Amino acid sequence: MTATSYFPPLRTLMGPGPSDVHPRILGAMARPTIGHLDPSFVAMMDDVKGMLQTVFQTKNQLTLPVSAPGSAGMETCFVNLIEPGEKVVVCQNGAFGGRMKENVERVGATPVMVEDEWGKAIDLNKVETALKENPEVKVLAFVHAETSTGVQSDAKALAELARKYDCLTIVDAVTSLAGTPLKVDEWGLDAVYSGTQKCLSCTPGISPITFSERAIERIKARKQKVQSWFLDLNLVMGYWGEGAKRAYHHTAPINALYAFHESLVMVHEEGVENAWTRHQQNHEVLKAGIEALGLKFLVAKEHRLPQLNAVCIPEGIDETQVRQLLLNQYNLEIGAGLGALAGKVWRIGLMGHASNLNNILLCLTALETALKAQGFKCVEGAAATAAQAELVAQGR
Ligand SMILES: *Cc1c(COP(=O)(O)O)cnc(C)c1O
Repeated sequence: MTATSYFPPLRTLMGPGPSDVHPRILGAMARPTIGHLDPSFVAMMDDVKGMLQTVFQTKNQLTLPVSAPGSAGMETCFVNLIEPGEKVVVCQNGAFGGRMKENVERVGATPVMVEDEWGKAIDLNKVETALKENPEVKVLAFVHAETSTGVQSDAKALAELARKYDCLTIVDAVTSLAGTPLKVDEWGLDAVYSGTQKCLSCTPGISPITFSERAIERIKARKQKVQSWFLDLNLVMGYWGEGAKRAYHHTAPINALYAFHESLVMVHEEGVENAWTRHQQNHEVLKAGIEALGLKFLVAKEHRLPQLNAVCIPEGIDETQVRQLLLNQYNLEIGAGLGALAGKVWRIGLMGHASNLNNILLCLTALETALKAQGFKCVEGAAATAAQAELVAQGR
């Protein structure tokens, strides 16, 4: 044990999250702690809710940050909307769909699985068949942006299907929020959860959620109490609800909420639509470089997430050595493959503040060096040149 202050190394974070936190956000976090019922803090909470509604593109009153990471947002949706004995259609095309299944089982309900290959989008036909064959199902759960594979599924079409079969939707938008179009009201999504450490470039540990009126009605109509005291939205609303009558529920992570507030201010300054465009354009720049290196993407073009690039590892390359060289020589973190894709892909994140040109050029140069060190054949400097050419083609 050493009892001295801890100073982390300075890294560039281009993995599946956390992404680089903007200095403004780190600065906000260091402001003085005040009470969680202080009128000034309560006013800040209202701003957080308002800005969060805009980022989620919703008017939902029940829009708030859960005081715990994305996984707790996931759990909030399942424990509040599902009762024991029910059946839930769960789509799985990667790691996080598997966690949804776990949540359904632990609530005492039965998951009806609709499975797609890792790296493919959710197949709407299979979902419709499952909903047709299980008319008692009341909830459809799916991951909008699968961070384990770099796939985005059609949330709008899935929500339409859900409504056709009189189901609510539980949507994982941890990686999509502020990175790729997500329109809660227009698409009619019911219970949506996200995280702060992906495209919001904030510190980890907070999970923004939003619930539609239909979802709230479902909670009110519950026959049994929500199993989790901490995540029971009936109780959480006593603290985060409207009006002056706020009651103690738990001590909010005050400073983490300053950080979250600042991250939302930054999204507002840029404009959420502009943030989506920036993520898409930077993805195209990275893609030009990756392809010039002779590497391939795992996911078909039309389903690719701009903020999470799954790049296939070429044959004969020791992928761990590549990531180690990136980390040790360039202070650059990229992600390894997860689950079924372990050893098969790298996951290069271009999330939030980290989605910028400097990072792209750093990553391409570092990758080229690391691949060459293992005898991989590629044209020197071709990746950076292709990336610059794409930038010019975009008129930037
Ligand atoms: C990161 C992530 C989560 C989990 O978020 P934590 O903050 O790590 O709990 C859930 N779903 C998806 C799609 C994610 O990318």
